[in-house]
Amino acid sequence: MAAKEIRKFDDPVLRKRAKPVRKVTREIQKLLDDMLDTMREAQGVGLAAPQIGVSKRLVVVDVGEGPRFLVNPEIVRTSDETETAWEGCLSFPGLLGEVERYARVTVKALDRDGREFWMDGDGLLSRALQHEIDHLDGVVFLDRASAVTKVPEEEAGEVVAETLALPAVVFMGSPEFAIPSLDELVGAGFPVKLVVTQPPRPKGRRRELTPTPVEVRARELGIPVITPEKVGSPESVKAIEEASPDLIVVSAYGQKIPGEILALPKMGALNVHPSLLPAYRGANPIQRAIMDGRDTTGVTIMWMSEEMDAGDICVQKAVEIGPDETFGTLEKRLASLGAHALIEAILLIKAGSAPRIPQDASKATKAPLLKPGEEVVNWNKSAVQIHNLVRALSPEPGAMTWYRGERIKLWETRVLSSEKTVGAPGEVLSVDGDQVIVACGEGTIAVVTVQPSGKRPMPAAAFLRGRTGLPRRFGDAEGGVK
Ligand code: ZN
Repeated sequence: MAAKEIRKFDDPVLRKRAKPVRKVTREIQKLLDDMLDTMREAQGVGLAAPQIGVSKRLVVVDVGEGPRFLVNPEIVRTSDETETAWEGCLSFPGLLGEVERYARVTVKALDRDGREFWMDGDGLLSRALQHEIDHLDGVVFLDRASAVTKVPEEEAGEVVAETLALPAVVFMGSPEFAIPSLDELVGAGFPVKLVVTQPPRPKGRRRELTPTPVEVRARELGIPVITPEKVGSPESVKAIEEASPDLIVVSAYGQKIPGEILALPKMGALNVHPSLLPAYRGANPIQRAIMDGRDTTGVTIMWMSEEMDAGDICVQKAVEIGPDETFGTLEKRLASLGAHALIEAILLIKAGSAPRIPQDASKATKAPLLKPGEEVVNWNKSAVQIHNLVRALSPEPGAMTWYRGERIKLWETRVLSSEKTVGAPGEVLSVDGDQVIVACGEGTIAVVTVQPSGKRPMPAAAFLRGRTGLPRRFGDAEGGVK
């Protein structure tokens, strides 16, 4: 027995229809043994003879239940039900394809001794049988793939599994930000066994108990949900354990997750974090990046450790922040980028080639939640700093200021000039269409949209028209005529 070279990519033998075997001779048996060796060396779960350059109808599979040799295999029955999942192929290293297959098949073949047998396969075995029998007809998985992903070869080496089963996932997340990740997992065919999210909280004027956006979405998708007050409670740990996840995915869950839970899945736990770690560790990375006037941020898929946001980096993707971009639009973009990066990370893990890059703790910065008072505009600051605060807090919770004692929110501003100007900080310099031009500590800003307390948002100029008293200045909490 000897491992053979695996034929790859556009090798013509992969595209030929293989010939039936007339008789299972010693020579055929030796070929089957070589195929088994080759498959084992490459750590695959299946191999067809054309993949070692022999155009004969021979297949070997082993999905963890011992090797099966199939001579002249034929699919004689298929289920109505299909399953879509990602597959790889030893002949196409570095590529993964999303392929719809019959959930169950019945195959008729001769065994290594030339005796006819029938076998049923479901799950991974069904998929492997269909994939290998395709090879005998010159069909490769890419022909059937609805989506193809490239796994970078320099990082990945070879995709080791002939067929990849998708890991069972427990998903832990709470706000809107987490929904694209949950959707993409489900859409890619990952079995999401359980969703863990924060309990419903009182919201709005009526203080009605409101479930998290993730809970609402999970129920729509028909996924079981738990909402523990404390995720480390024995009942909660038991529920997660019973879902027997291969992988835990965490996206803005909102509670510290004990090591006991993180240790449950054999593939580990991944976190989707909206910053380029080690920058902006903490609960508020998106608003902080905008407040700081950064022109770049990104998402990190991180291997979770017990220390908050300090785990090894698996995948990172950067994006630019537009000069007028708000928290709302950036959060949406990062949520969708995070979902794609998450699937990429899981595929890399399945391919055995996921990186683990330790964070440089000396470069770590913090992204804490807003402290009371941070939302108040300080007009002594520069126009750029004030603009960054306004867009970082839009659409939630809103930058706040006063106009002659009246409390207002600023929703939209533009930087007009960052040079020194006449006028005291906060002073209205002019009205230009719908905008009001205001002096800052450094530079001038156009205030576009404001919202007086208890009213709807309105153009800043319209707001000023109704208020004729002098001086016309923002930032004065005291006095003034209403
Ligand atoms: Zn293959």
